[in-house]
Amino acid sequence: MHNYGERTLTLVRGEGNYVWDDRGHRYLDAISGIAVCGLGHCHPKVTEALQEQANTLLHVSNLYNIPPQQQLADRLVFLSGMDNVFFSNSGAEANEAAIKLARKLGNERGLVTPQIVVMEGAFHGRTLATLTATGNEKAQQGFAPLPEGFLRVPFNDVQAIENLAQQHSDIVAILLEPIQGEGGVRVPDTDYLKQLRTLCDRHDWLLMLDEIQTGNGRSGRMFAYQHADIVPDVLTTAKGLGNGVPIGACLARGKAAGLFTAGSHGSTFGGNPLACRAGLAVLETLQGEWLIERTEKLGEQLLHSLRMRLGDCPGVVDIRGQGLMIGIELNHPCAELVERAREQALLINVTAGNVVRLLPPLTLTDEECQQLANDVSTLIQQFTPQAV
Ligand SMILES: *Cc1c(COP(=O)(O)O)cnc(C)c1O
Repeated sequence: MHNYGERTLTLVRGEGNYVWDDRGHRYLDAISGIAVCGLGHCHPKVTEALQEQANTLLHVSNLYNIPPQQQLADRLVFLSGMDNVFFSNSGAEANEAAIKLARKLGNERGLVTPQIVVMEGAFHGRTLATLTATGNEKAQQGFAPLPEGFLRVPFNDVQAIENLAQQHSDIVAILLEPIQGEGGVRVPDTDYLKQLRTLCDRHDWLLMLDEIQTGNGRSGRMFAYQHADIVPDVLTTAKGLGNGVPIGACLARGKAAGLFTAGSHGSTFGGNPLACRAGLAVLETLQGEWLIERTEKLGEQLLHSLRMRLGDCPGVVDIRGQGLMIGIELNHPCAELVERAREQALLINVTAGNVVRLLPPLTLTDEECQQLANDVSTLIQQFTPQAV
């Protein structure tokens, strides 16, 4: 179908922090398949686990116990402070599970239309429910009727939610990204999550965090909420968990953990042996190679270098991020920069129209990190938008 528009680059091979196109050209990959290949391409630990599992058992369905699924669940529960896990195949499906948990709670409370508070600028996926939770009218255009049960407020605005609470007695949950990804790498105030945690406790709402992009070490913690010293009630993750093998997870804690009962929810592929072996290899490698600590350090270096180089650059509005999730906001659209970066053997991304987004592998070397800062700075300094 035509939903991806025209694609002008063909990638055929990857190794470490680089990919190669069909003409043999090499690129430094500073987008990692949109925050998926955190360990870089074809990491030997992941490849080995996949090969072994492919020789053992690929799929049996959730009619049966699956040892790697149990092991990955135990590991995720241990790392996140949550109680239990539902495995899906994608981020959107993990969020669907979260939305169903909130609605289940609302239904148990006897509410006719339980409401979930969501944010302007949010991205939660492309299924009907997650598209409705997404704060992007252009993405929703043409897909009416959208499901009801969502209330939208500005991101990073606690008072707006307090005000909503005065008008609505049927709110059951807040769903948000700790750092907005597609919305432009928006980092909220440091005490924002803590205040939302308090608000949710006071009203008996679920705090549901979408860490599909920020999770699995990307922010310099295993999960970004760990910077804020809180624990959510529901946590979703996906992208970086399988390093390229499709897998998602919805985790729940406390009262949210017991909402699904036998038959409430399910998936044919979710949590299959292959995907779970990939997830286990990723988590073991992130910890075994101290990559999360390194990500925090590299992220600080990258932000610092970019701010040194671009702080006074005309057109640059803001340089922000956490860990290896960095956004450079310009005061004009800059989608053309993607193509110009390619000409310099570099893969980057532009999101929200005017934000250059960097999501390099967490395995970036110090030299590659410096090169990335230099190349991106030069590109932006030389960039003058084409007259419209
Ligand atoms: C990518 C993303 C999703 C959707 O994940 P898919 O695997 O594409 O369905 C949801 N939420 C956030 C924050 C994301 O970055």
